[in-house]
Amino acid sequence: TSVLKDDKGFKGHDMLAPFTAGWQSSDLHPLVIEKSQGSYVYDSNGRKYLDSLAGLWCTALGGNEPRLVAAAVAQLNTLPFYHSFWNRTTKPSLDLAKELLETFTASKMAKVFFTNSGSEANDTQVKLVWYYNNALGRPNKKKFIARAKSYHGSTLIAASLSGLPALHQKFDLPAPFVLHTDCPHYWRFHLPGETEEEFSTRLANNLEELILKEGPETIAAFIAEPVMGAGGVITPPATYFEKIQAVVKKYDILFIADEVICAFGRLGTMFGCDKYNIKPDLVSVAKALSSAYMPIGAVLVSPKVSDVIYSQSNKLGTFSHGFTYSGHPVSCAVAAEALKIYKERNIAEQVQNIAPRFQDGLKAFSDSPIIGEIRGTGLILGTEFTDNKSPNDPFPSEWGIGAYFGAQCEKHGMLVRVAGDNIMMSPPFIITPEEVDELISIYGKALKATEERVEE
Ligand code: PLP
Repeated sequence: TSVLKDDKGFKGHDMLAPFTAGWQSSDLHPLVIEKSQGSYVYDSNGRKYLDSLAGLWCTALGGNEPRLVAAAVAQLNTLPFYHSFWNRTTKPSLDLAKELLETFTASKMAKVFFTNSGSEANDTQVKLVWYYNNALGRPNKKKFIARAKSYHGSTLIAASLSGLPALHQKFDLPAPFVLHTDCPHYWRFHLPGETEEEFSTRLANNLEELILKEGPETIAAFIAEPVMGAGGVITPPATYFEKIQAVVKKYDILFIADEVICAFGRLGTMFGCDKYNIKPDLVSVAKALSSAYMPIGAVLVSPKVSDVIYSQSNKLGTFSHGFTYSGHPVSCAVAAEALKIYKERNIAEQVQNIAPRFQDGLKAFSDSPIIGEIRGTGLILGTEFTDNKSPNDPFPSEWGIGAYFGAQCEKHGMLVRVAGDNIMMSPPFIITPEEVDELISIYGKALKATEERVEE
């Protein structure tokens, strides 16, 4: 078991903030980002950082894609705003919906509902599912099953769906209709001698047990990220989604794919559903949809669900739900341009091509005595620091191992996401081979400095 060489511990700069996000206060001396270019951002002192998280897993086309700026300006000059209520809408919103439906091919999707964010998309999912079951005359089929360590957003319902205790404690969440099943993290949770396939079978059996215990007639939907992001970048074990989907289907439970991080190329496929052969009934997207240049999210709705809402025999009437900025024309124009660029440049293939350099280059550090696991696929990767290379031996949190590593990265010119002793990276899709090498080099320097602080 390791000891800390200095006894001071390390409190990351980000830990000084009383709120995770949103709280603006200059007396806390935040890092002020002023400019972005390609894979880099610059702070207010002119310091340059490789942006290894692409903002918040979202600036897929990097910091200064002129076509996205031009699309925004052109739309601002034509129609800066009109709403999409009461069967009124705008052309950018109609065009983007059509384009999205053509782009998503893992299962048939029929309609698109626009939101401003991923959280709103997931809140919308809950309302759609409830409306659907009300229209079908099964008002008791209302519960949702999500997974431990998932992240689905920060609004009351999206935070309820999320499986992270920090989002529940102190907020009286999750809401009572939300249940959580196992996190599919093989390294941490597999039994001795259990293969990935056996682990997946056990998790599918546990899910079925939960459904039977609650009563299948009460379970409306299951929601999952193809690769879990904020929970620590957790890729599904072999055969996991195949087995989970079989259980969900058996009990007439809708499958919601939360593609907010995975969509548009992040995993080397256009969608996470393509990579893992997921055939969802509903899909949430946001983030890379506009390469984050404008806030926008969307829900893709299968005909199975939308036909019920559109049905003449449905007596419920209007699906009374919408945001002022649903289908905002400027956001839609930018997103349509982003989709065009993803297709023109074969961005998913580009990610697939650069992924081995990124994944293999970083996984080469797996032998470090302070690293428990490095995991990821495509352009998303997580590092978990643990003692004795064991999932069961976390370093004392007051040592601030992850925070120290993050600060070392920052010192050497790179921004990473730190969550306790988990480090997450998801660089822009346009990252070059040279930039990947720089990212790996900075990671190596930060790791060395962090290792030197810990004595085995
Ligand atoms: N779903 C997933 C998988 C996410 O990673 C996030 C944000 O990180 C959200 C939903 C919430 O999206 P937003 O922050 O746009 O509300």
